[in-house]
Amino acid sequence: MKVIIQISGRHCHISRKDLDIVYGKGYKLKPIKKLSQTGQFASQETVTIKVGNKKIEDIRILGPVRKNTQVEISLSGGHRLNIKPPIIRHVHPESAGGCIPAEIIGPNGKVRSCAIIAARRHLHTNPKTAKKLKIKDGQLISLKTSGKRSVIFNNILVRVHPSFKTRVHLDTDEGNAAGLIGGEKGELMLNNS
Ligand SMILES: [Zn+2]
Repeated sequence: MKVIIQISGRHCHISRKDLDIVYGKGYKLKPIKKLSQTGQFASQETVTIKVGNKKIEDIRILGPVRKNTQVEISLSGGHRLNIKPPIIRHVHPESAGGCIPAEIIGPNGKVRSCAIIAARRHLHTNPKTAKKLKIKDGQLISLKTSGKRSVIFNNILVRVHPSFKTRVHLDTDEGNAAGLIGGEKGELMLNNS
């Protein structure tokens, strides 16, 4: 089966508590663009991430607010900050492992948080499609792209939720390596090899 590939640039998910600090108490994010997954949006607001004396500005906040703040950057972004972000799906605030303390700075203030990750490549899909493809939440699959820089991406984490549209999400490093700009289709390979 062919699926649409989308490329995620660096972005930040933010908790209510942290948004209150960096943008002000009760601040409401202003949506500027709907994202493919239901209810998700890019907001007008951005933050700066600082690690030591290195920083990346203009990191878009994606809404709505979430339980935990999470800043997703590429490995190239990690080079700019002189860090190696853990390649995981979600931050685990309770675990100290792989924690990179960073400052998240907005117009109203800053928080210090262990929020930086490089997102794991993943497939969003819904139970109906998952059943048809005989895949399960948490499974790893592969995807073959086409074109001059055709590659096979392994270890794509399957995420199943009734609200999900079937899309593969890669980051900008992965997209560039495969010559993709987003919107292309790739062929799912379900045995992860
Ligand atoms: Zn995603």
